[in-house]
Amino acid sequence: PEVTRLIAAGEVISRPLDVVRELIDNALDAGATRIEIELEDGGLGLIRVRDNGVGIPADDVPLAPQRHSTSKLDSVEGVDQIGTLGFRGEALWSIAWAGNLTLVTRPPAQVGALCLSAQGEERHLSRVTAPAGTSVTVRRLFSRLPARLRTQQPQASEVREITGLVGRYALHYPALHWKLVSNGEVRLQHARSDARGAVASVYGPLVANRLLSVRSEHISGVVSRPELTRPRRDRMHLAVNGRPVVFPAELQKAVIAGYAELLPAGQAPLCVLDLHLPAEDVNPNVHPAKAEVALAELSRLADLVRDAVREALSTHPL
Ligand code: ADP
Ligand code: MG
Repeated sequence: PEVTRLIAAGEVISRPLDVVRELIDNALDAGATRIEIELEDGGLGLIRVRDNGVGIPADDVPLAPQRHSTSKLDSVEGVDQIGTLGFRGEALWSIAWAGNLTLVTRPPAQVGALCLSAQGEERHLSRVTAPAGTSVTVRRLFSRLPARLRTQQPQASEVREITGLVGRYALHYPALHWKLVSNGEVRLQHARSDARGAVASVYGPLVANRLLSVRSEHISGVVSRPELTRPRRDRMHLAVNGRPVVFPAELQKAVIAGYAELLPAGQAPLCVLDLHLPAEDVNPNVHPAKAEVALAELSRLADLVRDAVREALSTHPL
């Protein structure tokens, strides 16, 4: 019945940030090179994510927000071999229950675009004109879930955290064009460049000039020179196989260990690291929002991280 669906949807989507993450993941899976995010009223009024990706073929549009409908998994065995950010087919379905969903999409080779609006189980399809790619708009999030609405944090804090999230995506996908606008105000903008350029977009050019590259078999990224450290670990970023995740404490320690005595006690560097691991060593299924991953052989990985950071610091004289 309706109420169990609302509860299930509320588990996948508990706040505006969850919607933003899911829609960005879909845009990345669609191969977009330009992703623009718009918020009104901290995301509770409106969230829109526009991309220039492959779009959804006309026949598949009505299926997109059906539960467990995904174009990304061919088989159950596929779950161990996930190469895309999405795979459960639950995001659009949950969003359609949590708020009012409007999806406009056009594959580049298709002439007209389709517009699908979805609210709960209700669907409405129409033809429109639109640029190639996909735009997903979510209005009145949690209007059917008053309890969820009541437990939301203040809008300004949510916008701050969403800005942080989009910044992290820009740091890990610096070759894309990113833009975040909240209540008409540009909060973040990044034009396609490299990791240094993304650090400049997020933290400013002074910081970006003091970075060292990290390159080893499974690890790429940038770390700051020791003089740029600060007492908090809020500028340490990790993505695993393209998915920004919560930085496991053991790996944060490994980064800091890589600096050894170059780092005053209690200080942490700025770093943006990307781990490239075999899909079977990564389990993204430990957390409904996929923000945490379980990694096989964490302590061996920690050694690799420490050595890669050490190497970056030693091959670039300070
Ligand atoms: P999942 O990402 O787990 O497959 P979603 O509910 O997020 O599930 O999306 C359902 C399906 O809708 C996707 O598998 C994909 O085929 C399609 N889709 C959603 N968003 C986009 C997008 N931005 N561009 C292209 N296709 C999309
Ligand atoms: Mg998805």
